[in-house]
Amino acid sequence: MRKPLIAGNWKMHGSKSQVKALIEGIKQGADGFAEIDILVLPTFVHLAEAKTLLDASAIMLGAQNLYPGTQGAFTGEVAGPMLADLGCDYVLIGHSERRTLFHEDLALIAAKFKAAIEAGLKPILCVGETRDQREHGETVRVISEQIQSVIEAAGIEAFRQAVIAYEPVWAIGTGLTATPEQAQEVHAYIRQLLSQINVDIGKTIRILYGGSMKAENASSLLAMADIDGGLIGGASLDAASFLKICAAAMPMDNSVQKAKVN
Ligand code: PEP
Repeated sequence: MRKPLIAGNWKMHGSKSQVKALIEGIKQGADGFAEIDILVLPTFVHLAEAKTLLDASAIMLGAQNLYPGTQGAFTGEVAGPMLADLGCDYVLIGHSERRTLFHEDLALIAAKFKAAIEAGLKPILCVGETRDQREHGETVRVISEQIQSVIEAAGIEAFRQAVIAYEPVWAIGTGLTATPEQAQEVHAYIRQLLSQINVDIGKTIRILYGGSMKAENASSLLAMADIDGGLIGGASLDAASFLKICAAAMPMDNSVQKAKVN
């Protein structure tokens, strides 16, 4: 059974007081959600405070990035072991904003993925095509390249600790969402790609959808057979919206979800 995971990517948002209010709001509503994993990904500067606020709750903590080294003269960067030491469980790797705005290439992303594994963190590898690539029929080629480059560097076994997030670039922060069918098609492809190398990893890996997921569209996306949760940007900054998405991921709310048993 793949346990649904709902992850909130807070990007470069939040003050100390906003982080406190958001975490308290999520904590208050998250009590009934034992059948799913909930994760928040604040900025680096809010991680320690978030860890304290999350306290004994089951909500997990993750970072949005890391540098692929353990320590050294890398001014301004943060290493995987530092994140693990702070109590992070997960780290985003290869978010499209990092690929595009910060020019992270396949080799750097693969090195970051490897560094996350070595630090004992669970990487959430983000993959996705641009609108132009989709329109030119290149979706499968792009996704395959983004995943294969990481498998080559880190090995397939590393994917036992990993999560994949399919995030069509054209749907991130745009209000456009892939239809459940469009998303399912790519998720099924990703699962098949991994299954060809290792059947067990293909079956058990969680594949999240990201790209303008919100309370209104979460149920139909999460109902798809190969969608195991969501990576949420904008809608994760409001506790009530985020909790509605968590509710939509609950197996009891979703008969198809129950069938996600291998
Ligand atoms: C994201 O940042 O990963 C994301 C999916 O953002 P949004 O939900 O705002 O599209």
